[in-house]
Amino acid sequence: THVVCEPCSGCKYTDCVVVCPVECFYEGDQMLYIHPEECIDCEACVPECPVEAIFHEDNVPEEWKSYVELNAEKSESD
Ligand code: SF4
Repeated sequence: THVVCEPCSGCKYTDCVVVCPVECFYEGDQMLYIHPEECIDCEACVPECPVEAIFHEDNVPEEWKSYVELNAEKSESD
């Protein structure tokens, strides 16, 4: 799965949402989250993100590792 990290917070662009073929982005209070079981790792969203907030789960920078769990929690709560 892919994971939305901290730079997304406060970002109001939804370019990533538009290109996602499986519509697995979910809107939170401050940012977007990706549903881990719906994402097919197509990578279409990665270059669209203006703040480079989206990473494959295996490549999430150390300081943002907690976002892996956060994306799972927030995307599944609605
Ligand atoms: Fe959607 Fe593809 Fe991005 Fe996963 S990698 S969130 S399927 S656009």
